[in-house]
Amino acid sequence: MKIVVVGGGYVGLVTGTCFAETGHRVTVVEIDRGKLDKLQRAEVPFYEPGLSDLMQRNIEKNRLFFTDSIAQAVPAAECAFIAVGTPQGEDGSADLNYVIAAARDIARSMTGELVVVLKSTVPVGTHKLVEEEIKKITSLPFSVVNNPEFLKEGAALDDFMRPDRVVVGVRDEKARKLMADLYEPFVRTGNPILFMDNASAEISKYAANVMLAARISFMNEVALLCDAMGADVEQVRLAIGSDRRIGPSFLFAGAGFGGSCFPKDIRALIKTGQEKGVEMYIAQAADRANERQKLFLFEKINARFGQLRGRVIGVWGLSFKPRTDDIREAPALVIIEKLLAAGAAIQAYDPEAMENTRRVFGKRIVYCADAYQACRDADALVIITEWNEFRRPDFGQIKAGLKQPIVFDGRNIFDPRRMKELGFEYHPIGRAGALNSFSPT
Ligand code: NAD
Repeated sequence: MKIVVVGGGYVGLVTGTCFAETGHRVTVVEIDRGKLDKLQRAEVPFYEPGLSDLMQRNIEKNRLFFTDSIAQAVPAAECAFIAVGTPQGEDGSADLNYVIAAARDIARSMTGELVVVLKSTVPVGTHKLVEEEIKKITSLPFSVVNNPEFLKEGAALDDFMRPDRVVVGVRDEKARKLMADLYEPFVRTGNPILFMDNASAEISKYAANVMLAARISFMNEVALLCDAMGADVEQVRLAIGSDRRIGPSFLFAGAGFGGSCFPKDIRALIKTGQEKGVEMYIAQAADRANERQKLFLFEKINARFGQLRGRVIGVWGLSFKPRTDDIREAPALVIIEKLLAAGAAIQAYDPEAMENTRRVFGKRIVYCADAYQACRDADALVIITEWNEFRRPDFGQIKAGLKQPIVFDGRNIFDPRRMKELGFEYHPIGRAGALNSFSPT
């Protein structure tokens, strides 16, 4: 099948590459000149494990192409995926300008029947908007399908190739068959393709993200209580996560969630609810709890030192989570901004997100060549993202570098008992009672 994917970002490029891998001929349309140049040189413009090899293989096999011309790509295609960004608009709702622009470009370029697939995360009712826009431009037959994407950055290929489920909002049989055919290679182990109406597919994506975000926010709230009560959130996590009705995922307390999806999707769902007269209380609470959580680590540091002016803080981890260079809405940005405002100097290190962070802070912070350089002559080390390489560091080097062995851990990656034995003053999140635990974790 000939497929067009509009948008060569995290979702578009993974989608295009994975479809090409199953034998389809895919053209990815990208309008950002810098990104397109990289794609045309067979370089991935962002960090995603495994994507570079897979992309190069499919380029070599003549199954994956890149262009900035929708007009050239669309006429030959049977389906066109829209995978452009839907950032947060000024009022909290999803900004649909990119989606609508892409739909219009597709409509102007169509020369025959086409299935237009909304892969971007879009609010309820967007399929109707897109349909209306296309109808204004062309009288050719088309259908609009919703196919929200559930991949996680850092594990995107695996998530796409082995999805828990594929959600498809569709109204006609022809488009249903096309989508079933496209996804069949990815669900061979029996995971379902769930066909439903378009609106339910649109809501499913937001509902999934808000449910996951709410779990994290709830555990973060429990962590605050644990700190206040001298309890240990890790013990609480194990206790509730082993309840089969609850399950163990997304229960880790930390410095708050960020990323290109959870924060904006929560706010978009709240906004959609308000527009329809449905107050989304749980989504609102998850959002508010997260805003508070992002400040919690800063407040701990501030409280410990009393005065941050003139202090040097080493920071490990800048991306919103490990295995990505994405810093959109990353808690690190908020924490660093607060530390700078309080007069501290920052020495930061991240395995992949330094370039993106430099675009935000420029010369306001120091960028370190490795994790230990970030500790050198610092008053404390702050861990904000739990990259694997931070989990078993050389504690001797950390201690030798720091002016005083103080570690604030926004992801609870170390054992408090071990840290104490090693002579560190260790400040995790929600683990005030960890040293009292009968069974150390
Ligand atoms: P992104 O910003 O990384 O990529 C979007 C790309 O589209 C950009 O490169 C941009 O230049 C390009 N673009 C915009 N308008 C265009 C046009 N008219 N023609 C061609 N290219 C155009 O965004 P992303 O992270 O890939 O997210 C895309 C969508 O998928 C969003 O709705 C997002 O909410 C959703 N989503 C993202 C993730 C994730 O983990 N990143 C996961 C699931 C769903």
